This record gives sequence, structure tokens and C-alpha cells, in this order.
Amino acid sequence: MSDVGREPASEEGKRDGECEPRVPLVPGARDSLFRRAVMALSDVVMPPVCLVCRTRIETHDALCASCWRRIDFIRPPLCDRLGLPLPFDIGGPIISAAAAADPPPYRRARAVAAYTGAMQDLVHGLKFQDRHDVRRLLGRWLADAGRDLLSDCDIVVPVPLARGRLLVRRFNQAAILAREVARVSGLTYEPMALERARATTSQIGLSRGERQRNVAGAFAVPKRRAAGVRGRRVLLIDDVVTTGSTVGACARALSRAGAAEVDVLALALVTDRGAIPA
Ligand SMILES: [Zn+2]
Repeated sequence: MSDVGREPASEEGKRDGECEPRVPLVPGARDSLFRRAVMALSDVVMPPVCLVCRTRIETHDALCASCWRRIDFIRPPLCDRLGLPLPFDIGGPIISAAAAADPPPYRRARAVAAYTGAMQDLVHGLKFQDRHDVRRLLGRWLADAGRDLLSDCDIVVPVPLARGRLLVRRFNQAAILAREVARVSGLTYEPMALERARATTSQIGLSRGERQRNVAGAFAVPKRRAAGVRGRRVLLIDDVVTTGSTVGACARALSRAGAAEVDVLALALVTDRGAIPA
């Protein structure tokens, strides 16, 4: 995993081609001088601010240096199956004792950061405050953390939100992230490949075993979507992976429908450095 997309805020805006224009250009306006003038004007109208603390910074879709330091990025060496950070590097793929003892029903999981600090703030903003302005930065981070997975997958599928929660929140944050990953990577976005087959209670406050029982059989690939999944390598997207019960139940449903492989990519992973999400 490289550090592309993980530089401090001052470097964020320098990768031309990764970001769409921040303002629409008028038809035929391809002159770079004109484009730069429009971009400069947009910065005057909407000056760039840190996506966490809202202080003024140099570029859009970035964090200030202080909030940047509050992100605990997950870096190698990692458990190749669970994506959890390991204390030592043996120079090749390594499986943690936890993954060897209880292999997950997916091939590999990767996440951007531990579920702590400013990553918690970003996830809460996305989930509960309609902060869709964070999606470009999070999409870039996901594409970087999941670089090895993206080159090995065909379709991008979000973990579906329970219907009741969809009514309350009006949007599925995993779908927003999955669409952004598909846009950045060029993979096919399949937002309806998974659905909730039955209602579940909230996972908050449940033990690992209770979480697994709560979501067992809770997901399914609808018959009309099966052809889009069969034989495909699926990249499953969620915002936070806690014990892996939810993404595990989704992976089983995708495998039952004939998916060739399932990999998991999340913004945050609850590690021993992180807290159980509330
Ligand atoms: Zn900040």
C-alpha cells in the first residue's frame, strides 16, 4: 500500500485528473487559463475548509494538518485475510492467528483507518449529518487502501441498509462510498445486488456471537440480480467493520448466489486501537 492520497492537506489538491472539476465548465470552454480563473473564483465563493473542523485550508476535499494527525491510518504489515495491523513484517503475506483459527467467509478485508479520532468524526458526519461533501476524500482513501483488491474485482456492491433505517436516514452511506469507489476505479457498480432478506435488530451492544446470530441469513441476492453476481469477483463496501459479522453474512449470501470471490473494503476497522462504534 503506498501513501498516495494520504499526504497532508497541502498536497491533496495537486493530483490533477483524480478530481472532477469543482465547478461545471461552460460548453467548449477548454482553455486552461479560463478553467483556472473559474476554479479560483469558486475558491472565493466557497473557500476550502477542513472536512472535520471547518478551518480554512489550501485545497478542497481535504483535512487540516491537525485533523490529519488524528487519523490512525492502517498500514502494512497486515493480516492478509482480516486486514488487521500486525506488529511485525515477515516480508510476505501473513495470516493472523485470529484468521487462522476462525477464517472469515470472505477472501480479504482492508480498511483505511482504525475507528478512532477524526475517522470517527468523518463517519458520524456521513451517517448522521448528511455530510456528503466528504465522499470524494473518502473515496480516494478507500481506493488507496483497497488498491490490491480493486485490481482483482469485477463489481462493487454496498452493504444494504435496513429499510427502517433507510427511511430515517434517507440514504445508505455504504452505497455512497461504493458508488465513489466504482467511479474512481472504473469497476461496475451494482447497488442492488444485495438486499435485506429479513429484519435485524441493531448490532450495537451485542457480543460477537450475538452479532453473528443477529445477521445470519439476513442478506440475499435477489433472483433478478443473480446473473450480475454469478461468476463475478465482488468488492463489498461498508463504512465500519466491527467484528465482521455483517460483511460476513453478506459475503455468504454473495457466495451462495455464485460469486467467484468476495473481498471487503471499509473506511474503518475496529482494532484493539479503536472503540466499538455507537
Ligand atoms: Zn481540521
